[in-house]
Amino acid sequence: MTALPPGSTIGILGGGQLGRMLAMAAAQLGYRCHIYAPPGDNVACEVAADCTIAEYDDLAALKTFSEACDVVTFEFENVPVEPLRSIAHTVPIHPPIQALEVAQDRVEEKEFVRKLGGETAAFAVARSEIEVEDAVAVVGTPAILKTIRMGYDGKGQVRVSAQSDLASAWRRAGGQPLIAEAMVQFDAEFSVVLVRSADGEIRFWDSPRNAHENGILATSTLPAGPLIESQQAAARVMAAAVADALEYVGVFTAEFFASGEGPLFNEIAPRVHNSGHWTIEGAETSQFENHIRAICGLPLGSTATIAERVEMQNLIGKDGERWLQLLGDPAANLHLYGKAEAREGRKIGHVTRLYR
Ligand code: AMP
Repeated sequence: MTALPPGSTIGILGGGQLGRMLAMAAAQLGYRCHIYAPPGDNVACEVAADCTIAEYDDLAALKTFSEACDVVTFEFENVPVEPLRSIAHTVPIHPPIQALEVAQDRVEEKEFVRKLGGETAAFAVARSEIEVEDAVAVVGTPAILKTIRMGYDGKGQVRVSAQSDLASAWRRAGGQPLIAEAMVQFDAEFSVVLVRSADGEIRFWDSPRNAHENGILATSTLPAGPLIESQQAAARVMAAAVADALEYVGVFTAEFFASGEGPLFNEIAPRVHNSGHWTIEGAETSQFENHIRAICGLPLGSTATIAERVEMQNLIGKDGERWLQLLGDPAANLHLYGKAEAREGRKIGHVTRLYR
């Protein structure tokens, strides 16, 4: 892959905070970014050279956008795949469309990982309400029901016990095809965030311990502790096998449960990830910069951690009101995403603290 010269235009599908931080990293390397997103609070547009506001299936708008870009990437994993195919012959798209397809379907995702030798929680599929009982019987209780498609940040998830009313659980999960997963008794959660170049070089950042609240990431911490450290190598092998099989280019994330039996794969994200935000200050090269480097055909930067201890804390909903107080803490690196509304459960910003 020949290197894209500075001054070229990177198209980013999706207008949220991940696109915003990608565009900031791209600007540092001299690239222009063009955001494409449906109407909404597109905070990436504030830091990008161009912005197209249109639906993802607006083929005419997508075509014009693709003609204005030298490479296209995405920051949102639920970008519909079919319209994207219509621009694939006009402009290179990294990561590959197949990575989106796999990540958008929880069943396909788990089967893909299992075929490559990865371990997952037991699961069963319920495509209609009457199949829910059988699916829960296969995995046992307690179980967790998740929509097969369009789930993120704990949305579209319902926990069920032996006593649960499954008809109501089906409705609460959105009344659409579900995957029933055995509830994993994990000791900790962690992620493998890696970057892969077009010629197949892979670099890993250290795996942080991720703590979730209400299905949303709350903190990512390094060092992650002995249990995660002992499972990181096996998880990396699994994550790299998936990235290689997809001929992936860019930053790729795989989330794991650290259980007594070793790392259990939970899900993949074909993009930069919230559990990699700590790399902006805590690593020699951030996930955002290395994603831009990979998709532009530049040499990858070092992923080494540069502090003894790192903690990234998400600012969710009203947490953002603490911005002035946080700025008074010399250890705190504050990032605010410029969101218009601090709705409950919404990621408003994050703060990273380094201790050397
Ligand atoms: P997900 O959207 O699949 O990443 O789920 C969000 C969070 O819910 C995870 O990070 C876990 O904390 C929890 N969770 C998801 N699936 C399971 C499971 N099978 N067993 C236990 N906890 C889970």
